Amino acid sequence: MAYLGNGAKTKEVLAKYNMSAKKKFGQNFLINEIVLDGIVDAAGVTRDDCVLEIGPGIGTLTQYLAESAGRVIAVEIDKTLIPVLEDTLSEYDNVTVINEDVLKVDIEAIVNEYNGGRPIKVVANLPYYITTPIIMKLFESGVPIESVTVMVQKEVADRMVMGPGSKDYGSLSLAVAYYAEAQSVMDVSPSCFIPQPGVGSAVVYLKKHECAPVQVKDEKYMFEIIRTAFNQRRKTLSNSLSNNPSLRVTRDQVQDALVKMGIDEKARGEVLALSQFAELSDILQSSGA
Ligand code: SAM
Repeated sequence: MAYLGNGAKTKEVLAKYNMSAKKKFGQNFLINEIVLDGIVDAAGVTRDDCVLEIGPGIGTLTQYLAESAGRVIAVEIDKTLIPVLEDTLSEYDNVTVINEDVLKVDIEAIVNEYNGGRPIKVVANLPYYITTPIIMKLFESGVPIESVTVMVQKEVADRMVMGPGSKDYGSLSLAVAYYAEAQSVMDVSPSCFIPQPGVGSAVVYLKKHECAPVQVKDEKYMFEIIRTAFNQRRKTLSNSLSNNPSLRVTRDQVQDALVKMGIDEKARGEVLALSQFAELSDILQSSGA
């Protein structure tokens, strides 16, 4: 039985190892059983699954995952937590801890070694300082992943699930929409962690698409358009895109493309859906780029 997941036990483990949470690694340990069960349920973890956990910390969520999954591979950057994890996970023979930076580790090699190349589920209470790079690495690397269930800052969760027109809509919303179907699972208050983060949190479930929802000739070019549009979100698309030399387009070419698509030539990026960015990308590439 998982015994972590409450404040008293978490404090006891930290005291036993004379440790405190490290801010530089984004350490906020979960202490709420309902939230922990909710994460495992949302991820739909079964004995058939191999789960990649990012940042096991002192092993709290890892214990819950180990109870439900066939295998858990936990990647932790902080080497001082490795002896703690050996202790808190000693009852489980289906957990492997890897002391590495998740942004550097070869996830494909992990999937091959521990799951015979079959898709894994990623489940994590993410370190908030690198949420976006982690999500982008998971998706852009193209490794076989079935779903990603993660605790993130509430504000980031909103950006992941929002559509055009909302103030939270931006390049992260579009990247997530391109790779996955996103669903917000639950809001989590700061009191569910030790130490308490300064912001609210939320769990999101990202079910990876089997094939991309839009067809685009050059994915990289489309994402460069998206990044440019939202880096200067107060500017019109024709101004922002023509200011980025790597896109190789003029103001007129952008305006013509928008008009051809039936969109106001003074439109900003925030009104375009993913399918429209794909169309704009294809038109601009053939008109000038
Ligand atoms: N899973 C634990 C829990 O829910 O209580 C801890 C979550 S804590 C928010 C984030 C964890 O990610 C910490 O253990 C931290 O050391 C680890 N971490 C931070 N940066 C990392 C990185 N680049 N690679 C792997 N782990 C990292």
